Amino acid sequence: MASSVKTPLSLSIKLWRWLLLVALLPMLLLATLVQWHMEQRLVEQQQTHLYNLARDKSRLISEVSLVTQSYLEGLAERVVFADMLVNEHNPRAQLEAMQLSQALLNRHSYYYDVLLVNPSGRVIFTLKQESDLGANLREEPWSDTGAGLAFDQSRRLLTTVVTPVRYYEPSLCSASFMATPVWSPQGVWLGVLMVQLNQEWLAEVAQSGVGTTRTGEVVLSQLNGSGKLEVVAPLRLDREAAIHGRLLDESHEVPSNRAIRGEEGWGTGKDYRHERVLAGWVYVPSMQTALVVKQDESEVLASLHTMRLYTLVLLVVVILVVSLLSMAISQRLTKPLLAIVDTLQQLKSGRWHLRVSNEHLESKEAAHLVSGINQLADTIEDQLERLQHQTTKLECQAQTLAQYNQDLEEAVRERTKELEQLSLIDPMTGLFNRRHYLQEGVRLWKTVARQRQCLMFALLDVDHFKLFNDSRGHQMGDEALTLVAQCLQEICQRSSDLAFRLGGEEMAALVVVKDVDDAMELAERLRVAVESKAIMHPRSPVKGVLTVSIGVALLDARACQHASEANLDGLYRLADEALYRAKNQGRNQVVLAREVLGC
Ligand code: GH3
Ligand code: MG
Ligand code: MG
Repeated sequence: MASSVKTPLSLSIKLWRWLLLVALLPMLLLATLVQWHMEQRLVEQQQTHLYNLARDKSRLISEVSLVTQSYLEGLAERVVFADMLVNEHNPRAQLEAMQLSQALLNRHSYYYDVLLVNPSGRVIFTLKQESDLGANLREEPWSDTGAGLAFDQSRRLLTTVVTPVRYYEPSLCSASFMATPVWSPQGVWLGVLMVQLNQEWLAEVAQSGVGTTRTGEVVLSQLNGSGKLEVVAPLRLDREAAIHGRLLDESHEVPSNRAIRGEEGWGTGKDYRHERVLAGWVYVPSMQTALVVKQDESEVLASLHTMRLYTLVLLVVVILVVSLLSMAISQRLTKPLLAIVDTLQQLKSGRWHLRVSNEHLESKEAAHLVSGINQLADTIEDQLERLQHQTTKLECQAQTLAQYNQDLEEAVRERTKELEQLSLIDPMTGLFNRRHYLQEGVRLWKTVARQRQCLMFALLDVDHFKLFNDSRGHQMGDEALTLVAQCLQEICQRSSDLAFRLGGEEMAALVVVKDVDDAMELAERLRVAVESKAIMHPRSPVKGVLTVSIGVALLDARACQHASEANLDGLYRLADEALYRAKNQGRNQVVLAREVLGC
């Protein structure tokens, strides 16, 4: 049984688990859902923002390009350049070309130089007068430079062209060239006027607008002579990239690869550092440039990561709080509960005097519970004591009852004996009844036989008693019978003499006599005694008073030693016969039996 009781530790662990489940699971689910949703929204927003930035920058590049084109084409229309191409040594033209070129360069810092190239490809004028002055752009190595390329394309297409940015040796920096044909007033192609653009403006475009973020960056790239994608503006994280002609990874994930194919859009990819980035990309046709605005994914999601960290911290705090809470609940609740269970088990095994200790109970509810249990134990103990008391009392009562029963049985036995005595006596007359006659007759017979005496049996019957009852009533009949019985008892003076009522108005006497005369004399005395009572019997045909007839039979006991009930019956028959004769002879007389009974 004891093994089924949980220890406080297991209970608190269970409690702790449940609390954690209830408190943390919904929180975790909610936090994960919110973060996932926020991440999606944030990434999408940022990608769109980067794409919009890319589009703005693309527009800016196109505008600059258009403006430059318009400046250049306007400049090429000035006759001074046609004049110079016709006569390159014309000092006036040279001076004017210098002034116009200077005016153009003054417009923007990234307009670096103005070059005039004659149809054979020789540079006949540059404002900066670098080493390219006098070089023939159709010849090696100049033909492979940006200037050579621009000249070649413009000469062949007879239109304004722009070359990709690439390193230009005479200027010791990367540059792109915009070239436009110069026509004579008659419409004859005279050569090409070029403006050399340094990277400053591209750098400006590349670095503006994304500086507020830590990892925001614009990557401008163009296909170089070998068809490889090459960075053409300084990178924020690698300022020398454009100078050194840094090549980009060819993997599909690099957004510049998609932009250079003419695509535009936004998404997630990898940059030249192989870092995961969010990016927006466009293609700038006027400069044949892939423009990518990107930002490290880690920076974009940094706030979310911080939030995740806070959530984790919160989680740890909640776990701590829950643990402390479960420990506190366990202290306050499970401890008293276990004490109660322990005490209840002891109470069950019969130790009813024990009580749950209510010391150190911090919880009011637990204190109430403990006091309730203790009160219950008090009540049960009281009831048990009362029960024990009752049992003892009942045991005493059972003993007393047993004693009563014993006494009663004794009394019943005595009473039965008395009743047995009573049953031998006729209640109305107080004479022995017929049953006693048989018992006592035998006893008396034996006595008489021992004493060698005679036994007289006198049988008495009231004369015309029916008429007496009829005339004087049954009550008087009873009284008369009582008087007759008294007369009978008067002649039975000795202790051995017995008087009986044999039934109805028939009575008898067993008396020890000496002889027949003695017997007859005694019987006569009896008859006279009744008559002398002078009980009025008005309807008696014999006399006016109540009389009796008596039949006398004698037993000569000297001749007979063996008495039996059969012999008594014989004695009765003889007396009855004598009585019958007395009745027949007129009643109120004594008649002796014809024979004396002997053995
Ligand atoms: P006989 O002289 O021939 O004996 O006539 P009898 O009327 O006495 O005899 P019978 O046998 O005809 O009637 C006996 C009557 O005795 C009938 C009965 O009413 C009456 N008797 C018997 N026992 C009692 C008794 O205990 N009390 C009273 N009052 N009457 C009794
Ligand atoms: Mg009779
Ligand atoms: Mg009679």
